[in-house]
Amino acid sequence: MTSKRRFTLSLALVAAGAVWFATSSGSARAPQAGVYLTPNGYRVPVYGMSVVRGADGRLEISCGQATNGQIESVRFGRSVSRAMSARSPRSTVQADTVTAAKFEIIYTDSPGAGFNDPQQGPARKRALEAAFAAWSKVLQGTIPIVVQARMEKGEDDDEDLLAVGGPVELVGLNDLAMPTSLASQILNEVVRREAADIEVVYNPDVDWDYAVSGAAVGEKSSFVYITLHEIAHGLGFIDSFVAETGELLNPIPFPYDTFVNRGMNSPNLVTKRSLEQIKGDLISKDLFFGGPKAVEASKKSIRPLPMIKLYAPDPYEPGSSVAHVDLDTYDDFLVGLMAPKVIVGTGADFVDTLTLAILEDMGYKLVPQPATPTGRRDKP
Ligand SMILES: [Zn+2]
Repeated sequence: MTSKRRFTLSLALVAAGAVWFATSSGSARAPQAGVYLTPNGYRVPVYGMSVVRGADGRLEISCGQATNGQIESVRFGRSVSRAMSARSPRSTVQADTVTAAKFEIIYTDSPGAGFNDPQQGPARKRALEAAFAAWSKVLQGTIPIVVQARMEKGEDDDEDLLAVGGPVELVGLNDLAMPTSLASQILNEVVRREAADIEVVYNPDVDWDYAVSGAAVGEKSSFVYITLHEIAHGLGFIDSFVAETGELLNPIPFPYDTFVNRGMNSPNLVTKRSLEQIKGDLISKDLFFGGPKAVEASKKSIRPLPMIKLYAPDPYEPGSSVAHVDLDTYDDFLVGLMAPKVIVGTGADFVDTLTLAILEDMGYKLVPQPATPTGRRDKP
């Protein structure tokens, strides 16, 4: 079994390498750490959430760039998932309105393992589907968004890793490198060529709390909260700025990139600035999300600012910087779903208004909300 797995892995790596060489001819750039190369040649950061000990000694859940080992594991798993997808169990999650986004979840674990585990599987599936139900309550969509989820231990035994997630494939649309989940809604047709739009992979050895309320008891990690967060990255809450060079990962930006602004008082889009300026911007503690919906939501939030403040510490934190909302600015009520770090034992079961506004600026349509909470539920 093990030798067969390794053999399949090496084949997958050969195939991925071939794609890389085919799509990067003329470029001297090597594949970067923490970056996944999609089947049709886009570079995408993979975000992983891990448990780390913070400066004050408390255990934190931190979202950062996945390691190369974790990405190889994802790459290997995706090749297995693709093969298993057709005969894997699946569920559909859709809120109770015709316009609500529909999620189709494919559980690609082996029979008896992970989400298919006879004891723990039902609680795991219930928690996963609760997280998708929360997204379906707030997101509109005409084309189902397909998600692969699995919980088998990868080749890389990283015991602090909770989960990794992201879009499976991007397509070029409107001069943007766009996740297929978003491109499908904009074009009102199925754009995906892979088995799924989004994939989330979980570490089964974590002390998970499967409470659908998003609560996490003691030092457990909230499965619902972490899933909600990873789905946001999978929907396109990702940036492609390269800290070392100021360049983008691909010839065209991600939708998120095009709203990242230096300063908050006037339009000053980072994508329009020089590479030298961008290198400084990324560690300026002065980055904001300046889309019109974000501006509107920010002004109404509990910490009104002209734009939503993004996390941009110095030194740069790969996978945490830029594509998360600033932790310190919103610290008094805690920041909402897309904080780069949260204290272990906290969680949420909803998507906050700042996160939603950012996704709306990127092109998603939202279910009209009377008033949704802005912060996340904190540990009492
Ligand atoms: Zn994250």
